[in-house]
Amino acid sequence: MGVRENLSHVIEQMTKAAKKAGRDPGSVKLVAVTKNVSVDIMREALAAGINAFGENRVQELVAKHPQLPVDVEWHLIGHLQTNKVKYIIGKVHLIHSLDSWRLAREISRRAQERGLTVEVLVQVNISGEETKYGLPPGEVRSFVAGVAELPGIRVRGLMTIAPLVSDPEQARPIFRELYQMASWLKQELPELPLDFLSMGMSNDFTVAVEEGANIIRVGSAIFGPRPNPRRDNHGEKIGG
Ligand SMILES: *Cc1c(COP(=O)(O)O)cnc(C)c1O
Repeated sequence: MGVRENLSHVIEQMTKAAKKAGRDPGSVKLVAVTKNVSVDIMREALAAGINAFGENRVQELVAKHPQLPVDVEWHLIGHLQTNKVKYIIGKVHLIHSLDSWRLAREISRRAQERGLTVEVLVQVNISGEETKYGLPPGEVRSFVAGVAELPGIRVRGLMTIAPLVSDPEQARPIFRELYQMASWLKQELPELPLDFLSMGMSNDFTVAVEEGANIIRVGSAIFGPRPNPRRDNHGEKIGG
């Protein structure tokens, strides 16, 4: 099947999941994950109604960025190395993977240099898998409060990657926990605009939407299986 058909299937599933949970389907943003996807295919996705692309490598994002219309939203969803921040400031709409102080300070510094404010999500390692990036849940509150003091960077919510499981139901407790953490954080830090919850991928986005995701990151369900899935490890530490 082509991109257009896949996309309408994903939107249908997403809509069904939102309705099932009593949520407005229009409140869920679909980020099309385009790692290893060609610019030509991305243009097809644009024509089919997508306006936000997620990349997990800086190099790939920077290479594709000038080839697509300026009103496209770019989301950096993979682990971001401090020394690469300078390449994406001013190009990304949202960084989903803030996971350290060092990175927060570098984003702040580079954004200030450019007179910009960069919006970020804090990646939380809910599952506790050692191979995954992200802050342990217990550190999130003080981290978010600390980053809020930095100029040029604005925390807009949380992101997590669920373990890859055969039955997406097994990911439900992870999503529920991130939702609860975000709700608690909003009460603790009511002055911060913590509006976004980025969770759910091809395998589990319906469950994530049922559990309150308002950004889902979907790649292979739209573009088909990637040629070399071992090399894209969903942001895990090994092999990336
Ligand atoms: C690759 C990737 C996705 C999308 O994965 P699919 O299973 O292809 O939908 C989502 N989030 C992150 C962080 C990724 O690296």
